[in-house]
Amino acid sequence: MIVEELDKDIEVVDLEKDNLLDGLPDDLKKKLQEADLSKKEENLSEILEEKIETVVKEEYKIDRTLISQSEDETEVRLPDNRIVHIRKWKIKDKKNFDNSKNWLEAKTALVYNCVAEDIALDQEEFNFLLFKIRELSVHDKMKFTFICPECNSEEKLELDLSKLVTTKGGEYSEIVSGENTFKMGAITNKDLYEAFNNSDVSEFNLFINDFIFHIKELNGRKIESDKDYAEVADFIANLDADFANDIFNQWLKMRFTLVFDNVIECKKCGAKNVENFSTLPEFFPESWRVVENI
Ligand SMILES: [Zn+2]
Repeated sequence: MIVEELDKDIEVVDLEKDNLLDGLPDDLKKKLQEADLSKKEENLSEILEEKIETVVKEEYKIDRTLISQSEDETEVRLPDNRIVHIRKWKIKDKKNFDNSKNWLEAKTALVYNCVAEDIALDQEEFNFLLFKIRELSVHDKMKFTFICPECNSEEKLELDLSKLVTTKGGEYSEIVSGENTFKMGAITNKDLYEAFNNSDVSEFNLFINDFIFHIKELNGRKIESDKDYAEVADFIANLDADFANDIFNQWLKMRFTLVFDNVIECKKCGAKNVENFSTLPEFFPESWRVVENI
C-alpha cells in the first residue's frame, strides 16, 4: 500500500519544513487535528475508485455595487499570476466550520466558500488566504508583550495582522535531480488533490501531495489526468531517500511559503530580535461567540 510506503520514509527524509499547522490559531489547529483522528487507511486506487466525495462549494455571494470594489471583497494575487477574490466571513461560514467532519469540509467552510473562483489551494496558499480573509473580516490589532532578551525590558505592542505575515517563493520552474526533471506549476486538479489530502491529513502526506500536484511535467511527459497523478504518487513513493531529499530541498526553495518571522527592535537597548508570530490571538470575531448556538 503506497500510503504505508510513504510513511516509512518519514525518518529518513529530512524535509526541513516547519509544522504546516504552525501559525494557525489554536481553535483551528485543534479542529484540523481532530479531523486527523478520523483518517482512514486507504490506498490511492481506492481513493480513485470511490471517486471522491466532493464537498460542494457554496455559491460565492456578494453584493456588488457599481463602485469597483465592495469593502466586503478584496483581490488577492497568488503564484502563477492567479488573481482571486475573497469575501468576508459570514455567520453561516462559522456554522459550516463547526459542523465540519473532516479536513476538506473545514477547508471549504473557512476558505473555499469565501473565494469567488473555483481553484485549488495548496497548504501554503490556503493558509495565506485564511489570513487574508481574517484580515478582511476582523479589523483588529494583535496585542503582544515583547520582552527583550538582551536587556529584559518589557514593551506592549499593537501589531497589524497584515504586517505579521509575509510570503516568499512561488516562481515555478524546473527541478532537476539525477535523471529526473520535474516541471512545476500551480495545482489544477482540485478534486483529486483534496481527495488525496482528505484521506490522510498528516503533515507528511500533505507535504508530499503538495509536491505531487504541483508537478506539471515529469521527464517531458505531461501530467494531467487522475491516472497520471496516481502514477506520479507511486513514482515519488519509490524514490530513494537521497534523491527525495535533493528534490524536496529544491522544491522548498521554489515553493510559495508564508513567513512568520519579524524583526523587532528594542526601544531601550536597540537590540534587534527575530520574533515568530505563529500563535495568533482569538481567531473568529468576538461577536460570533454570542451567536454560536443559533
Ligand atoms: Zn533591549
